[in-house]
Amino acid sequence: MKRAVLFRFSMILFVALAVSSAISYYFMGNKLLADNETNLLNIVRMIDYSLDGTGPLSGNVSKEVSGNIQEKCTAIKGRLKDTKARITVISVDGTVLADTEAESYEGMENHLERQEIQAALSGKPGYATRYSETTHENMLYVAALSADGSYIVRAATVYKGLEDYFLSIMPMLLLGIAAAYAIATIVSFRFADTITKPLMEISAELQKIHTNTWDFQFKQYRYDELNIISEATMRLAQEVQEHISRLEFEKKVRQEFFSNASHELKTPITAIRGYAELLDNGFVSDEETRGKFIKRILKATENMTQLIEDILMISRLETKEAEVTFSRLHLAPLMDEIFDAVEPIAAEYKVTLHQECEPVVMEASVKQIRELLMNLIVNGIKYNHPGGNVWVKIGASGHNAVIRVKDDGMGIGEEDQARVFERFYRVDKGRSKKMGGTGLGLSIVKHIVEFYDGYMQLKSRLNQGSEFIISLPLQRAEEKG
Ligand code: ADP
Repeated sequence: MKRAVLFRFSMILFVALAVSSAISYYFMGNKLLADNETNLLNIVRMIDYSLDGTGPLSGNVSKEVSGNIQEKCTAIKGRLKDTKARITVISVDGTVLADTEAESYEGMENHLERQEIQAALSGKPGYATRYSETTHENMLYVAALSADGSYIVRAATVYKGLEDYFLSIMPMLLLGIAAAYAIATIVSFRFADTITKPLMEISAELQKIHTNTWDFQFKQYRYDELNIISEATMRLAQEVQEHISRLEFEKKVRQEFFSNASHELKTPITAIRGYAELLDNGFVSDEETRGKFIKRILKATENMTQLIEDILMISRLETKEAEVTFSRLHLAPLMDEIFDAVEPIAAEYKVTLHQECEPVVMEASVKQIRELLMNLIVNGIKYNHPGGNVWVKIGASGHNAVIRVKDDGMGIGEEDQARVFERFYRVDKGRSKKMGGTGLGLSIVKHIVEFYDGYMQLKSRLNQGSEFIISLPLQRAEEKG
């Protein structure tokens, strides 16, 4: 990364230097040309002044006059510091009257077509830069019409633009570039450090993941962006940790459930096997005992079936995958039907059933609501005394159906009240088993209530009785399809 920063920095520096050099080269070149042009124009004006009185030089100029001009021009040139300066005098028809460089001005071609001469003829000073066939060098020409308008004076000098300057300032320029690069390197290294160092620290801290450690410690950094990264990472780590512990907890619950479930299934299977072996051995000869054993086998099978059904019910409710058929459910007729079904059990336990149902209609699955009511009512009967009562009251309150199942039976001690909804939890294991309980009834009730987004309350006092109050929405929430 450091190298990348350095490379970028150098690139930027290079581009900046190139662009600024090109711009300065262009403007300085222009300025230099303008200055040279002005200087040459001044010389042209001076020559014109010194030739004053020679003219008029238009038309046919005698050799003598021309020779005079040539002499004057050579003399002026001799006084100029610029040894390569060239002075030319041209008549307005383009005939060269004098020239300090040509071997013989007489043989020189007509200069009328020269760019600077054309411009001078129009009255303004004319400028041109071009390669001269006469001096074999790049020249700057400045020409101007004489004061009396009869001839043109042209001065020229070798002109290479900035080239000469450039060569002379080259060492300084290179030194400057080297210095700029050195400074840029130091600055970019320092700058890269301010970013790479924190990033390296952060990534070193992140290595903790490999040892499954999530307590990251990050420093406060100069750049907010880096602090955002470290804070976001910390938050993420926290969430991951929470997620992991939730998964671990769920795993534990599931393991417990499986071990409990297999344990519960083992009991009826052992019973079935025991009675089946006894019958198989042929030790039981009398019909009455055989019938008793067969009944016990059937009872154990029944228990197993109930247990498996309850387990399936819970797992479906938990995954919310239950294939639920919803309908407009009239709770009063359903209660009548349930009472008919549990009446024999109530009679067996000598418990009286009472019901008080308002005509409540809710949108629900008959199967689930029947299961819920059955579990609560049968519990009220089972965990009761002979002569006890179970009251079922159904009504509506606001948008909810309210179901109350109350008994005056054994009641549940305070310490057990929260736990009775756990799977396989029984207060009195022996009694529950004797009565065919699976320990899953209240857990199923709780799951059904949660499935409908309802809520539940348990009021109970040991040896006085219990009351389960359940509130379920009359209409299902939209998302549950
Ligand atoms: P079980 O199959 O054992 O009845 P439940 O989940 O229905 O399982 O109930 C869990 C335990 O809660 C029962 O074993 C019982 O000890 C206690 N319990 C449930 N309902 C009542 C009640 N109405 N009165 C007293 N105890 C109850």
